[in-house]
Amino acid sequence: MPDYDVIVIGSGIGGLISAGILVSRGLKILLVEKNVTPGGYLTSFKRGDFIFDSAVDCFSGVENGGLINNVLKLLGVDSQVHFVRVDPIRMSIFPDTKVIVDSDVNAYKKRLLSLFPSEGAALASFFKLLEDVYTEIQTAINMLLSKGEFNKVGALMARLGNISYLQLLNEFFTDSRLKSILSDRCTFIGLPPSKASAFTMAIMMLSYFKFGAYRPVGGSQKLADALADGIGNKGGKIIFGNGAQKILLKNGKCCGIRCENSDEYTSKNIISNVDFVHTFNNLLGGKYGYFAEYMLKNVGVSTSFFILYAGIKGDIERHSSIGYFPSYSMESYFQPARIYQEDATIGITIASIEDKTRAPAGSHTVVLHEMVQVYDETLDKAQCIDTTIKKTERILPGLKEKIVVLDAATPNTLQQHTGNHYGSAFGWKQVPGFRNVRNHGIENFFVAGHWGDMGGGILAAAYSGAKAAAAILTKGGITVDF
Ligand SMILES: Cc1cc2nc3c(=O)[nH]c(=O)nc-3n(C[C@H](O)[C@H](O)[C@H](O)COP(=O)(O)OP(=O)(O)OC[C@H]3O[C@@H](n4cnc5c(N)ncnc54)[C@H](O)[C@@H]3O)c2cc1C
Repeated sequence: MPDYDVIVIGSGIGGLISAGILVSRGLKILLVEKNVTPGGYLTSFKRGDFIFDSAVDCFSGVENGGLINNVLKLLGVDSQVHFVRVDPIRMSIFPDTKVIVDSDVNAYKKRLLSLFPSEGAALASFFKLLEDVYTEIQTAINMLLSKGEFNKVGALMARLGNISYLQLLNEFFTDSRLKSILSDRCTFIGLPPSKASAFTMAIMMLSYFKFGAYRPVGGSQKLADALADGIGNKGGKIIFGNGAQKILLKNGKCCGIRCENSDEYTSKNIISNVDFVHTFNNLLGGKYGYFAEYMLKNVGVSTSFFILYAGIKGDIERHSSIGYFPSYSMESYFQPARIYQEDATIGITIASIEDKTRAPAGSHTVVLHEMVQVYDETLDKAQCIDTTIKKTERILPGLKEKIVVLDAATPNTLQQHTGNHYGSAFGWKQVPGFRNVRNHGIENFFVAGHWGDMGGGILAAAYSGAKAAAAILTKGGITVDF
């Protein structure tokens, strides 16, 4: 008999959700994580008296009935972690206006209508279409979670999955400023409107409107820790600090893993939550490397980020999630030449505004996210820090002199911590026509996380983990109802 029913490699949100669902249904689970703590990108750290989230600004799925909330409940750890709602979701700063992204979609529509009265009819039909797509997605997700696969893709999902977000905007709007304003959340998937899948943009935008944007009180690590604790409490085994080095195969089926310290464990099924290229090139290896090559060539890896973590003394802003766009030229922000430039876009998170546990009284955590499309280890970090602060001071005047704690992460830091290729933030690029590898031919092997086919981001990675769990459960004849 194999040692385990399922081995999950990697404890990012995708790995934690799949392990959590499976262990709560009575399966014997081993979760192996190369780091000494769970979470992958869903992690936080302390510098001085400040708590910073390493990567994530905010996410949905934690409200009552949301997928992450359901899994916390299945594991009996829902009271271990609390969330603050980010409301409004964001403030986008353009050269001549600041646009609040209200958490109530009707308030947001009204706001846009007051700015662009001549686009009223177009705004109404655009948001109606987003709602209709979302209804189709809900049906597909229910199917996914009960049967482990998408059997029926709705007509709108299929259409939007094959066109760019810019094509979709062009179908409705003529005003280029409005199109730019509606593209402010393209930075959430790291692609310009002309390259981002309209489908991915629709689900990402709607999931925040429908279910709100949240952050765990005390930092992202609290959520990862709660899920890991719950998995352990339900009898799952977790090994930290000893990553998988090889997935063992026999007659074209997975039969276990070998860890970095040479320990071997056998299992009926394997789920990889690890970087796709590393999984197929190295963990599986051999002929499976072809799939990594294929995806790199035909789809490509999503953007990474340069991140600056500043603990500041004094007040600085009242909105905790800000996108700064020095011009309306949305396409230009995604050009490699824009990296670290004064006219590049920047994302700002001041989580301590809603969550007072993250900074001492009268102080704040300010995290700056600069998109980095090209991986370059030779960049001068000090200079990048300098340019980023200078640029941010245009909208947060006096930032530099308020800083009492400062740290930075480059794409290299992100790659080292999570193993994601080039520090990729969202897995594969979510481009029109995106299809992930489905025919790798290993029937007891599954991918979970943002390298699955659900798109980038915490909730999408969580759904991908649920999908992998559902596929294993339904194969074993177990009813799925999470
Ligand atoms: C700067 C930044 C900002 C972001 N902001 C947001 C946001 O605001 N909202 C949002 O929803 N999403 C955001 N994202 C995206 C989101 O963080 C990711 O899409 C998501 O966390 C990916 O989760 P995952 O489950 O795929 O695994 P990952 O988080 O990639 O974790 C993979 C895990 O596998 C482990 N691992 C790797 N190799 C091995 C091995 N050989 N053996 C064992 N373990 C291994 C790693 O250590 C890691 O723990 C952001 C990302 C970045 C980088």
